[in-house]
Amino acid sequence: MKGRFGILFFLAAFFVLPVIAQQKTSSYVLVIHGGAGTILKKNMTPEKEAAYKSSLKKALETGYRILQSGGSSLDAVEATVRVLEDDSLFNAGKGAVFTHEGRNELDAAIMNGKTKAAGAVAGVTTVRNPVSAARAVMEKSEHVMMVGPGAEKFAREAGLEIVDPSYFRTETRWQDLQRAIREDSLASAKSNAYTNPGKLGIKNRDYKFGTVGAVALDQQGNLAAATSTGGMTNKKYGRIGDSPIIGAGTYANNETAAISCTGWGEFYIRNVVAYDLSALMEYKGLSVQQAGNAVIKKVGDMGGDGGLIALDKKGNMTMSFNTEGMYRGAVTKDGKIQIEIYK
Ligand code: ASP
Repeated sequence: MKGRFGILFFLAAFFVLPVIAQQKTSSYVLVIHGGAGTILKKNMTPEKEAAYKSSLKKALETGYRILQSGGSSLDAVEATVRVLEDDSLFNAGKGAVFTHEGRNELDAAIMNGKTKAAGAVAGVTTVRNPVSAARAVMEKSEHVMMVGPGAEKFAREAGLEIVDPSYFRTETRWQDLQRAIREDSLASAKSNAYTNPGKLGIKNRDYKFGTVGAVALDQQGNLAAATSTGGMTNKKYGRIGDSPIIGAGTYANNETAAISCTGWGEFYIRNVVAYDLSALMEYKGLSVQQAGNAVIKKVGDMGGDGGLIALDKKGNMTMSFNTEGMYRGAVTKDGKIQIEIYK
């Protein structure tokens, strides 16, 4: 009899308990951003605003369908970011900003909150969807980050779509570069625009920012984050921002949160923003909202600006920023879509 109880206990421990542990979460959520900056209603036409909103909605619907049908948060963030990369309104993939030399150099990262596996690519010029290249680095190589021609070779071998660099070009971004060259040369006469921007008075910085990102919680309770960007207009040769750097612009940990940042990358790298948010939750017990506000304050105190989206394992989210606006949106389990642009 005793033996039979022992067997029953054994069966319960190994088969029933893990099933309980894997129970589906009651909430699945997807949060996205399309960049932060000097985004003012007075500078926006109704048509432009409607275009941004419909693009954000399309991205949210894409990721939501995956989560709703039981797909993984990883699949959801990748698919969502691909939609934004293909949309020329945003500074990622097609429509990316130009470097000083007139090139589009793209950075992206993705991270799995369950396993803490991560992948990133930086400075790629021919990969149509850098977020998928980041995922390939994560899943098909023993590395976390690849840059430049090596990353492109790897993406091609992984079967990803390769395009001519001219695919990413848009006239709007080209004009932004001409403007940035004029304004940054004026500013750098006074100081270094990249490391000491505080009092430079560089106006209308919205044309310099625009990264996209997504964080998601799936029905299995797993978090994931992805970020993709063209970086900053008029960036120097070889400059890499925070977006592809795990812990700076992108991070995910099932025990804390999934995070994707946007803003002045140098400040996000120096403040290790995404990991700092997670650490504040882990070590100090802050909520995702409190931690989000705290790290954005640190960026601001140092003279940087931007924002972030973050989501915890219970589906609590934050969209913190210290700029005039941030393209952002979320969809919750009930399918309710929320999209906002201004402060
Ligand atoms: N964080 C990005 C970078 O510095 C830019 C952005 O978010 O718009 O590369």
